[in-house]
Amino acid sequence: MGVTDQPSVRLSFDASSCDGWGMCSLVFPEGISLDRWGFAHVMDEPVPGPLVRKARRAAACCPRQALTILETDPAPRAASNESR
Ligand code: SF4
Repeated sequence: MGVTDQPSVRLSFDASSCDGWGMCSLVFPEGISLDRWGFAHVMDEPVPGPLVRKARRAAACCPRQALTILETDPAPRAASNESR
């Protein structure tokens, strides 16, 4: 199984739930920064494989459940050729 067969992991962020506690950025500083008021700013890109564990911990530690891990299976390559 190659790297491209790994599920894509993203962090979904609900800004309306964020209370600015800031714990997420302590756990996952590579993907979450805080604005001047302490509210989270979350990376838009897929989480790189070596950082997925930190992203999961950040989501788990949020007291407002403002962070959610989204996993997407890679699209099967053969399916794109079958539609033609
Ligand atoms: S831990 Fe949750 S509530 Fe606190 S800044 Fe991060 S996303 Fe917002």
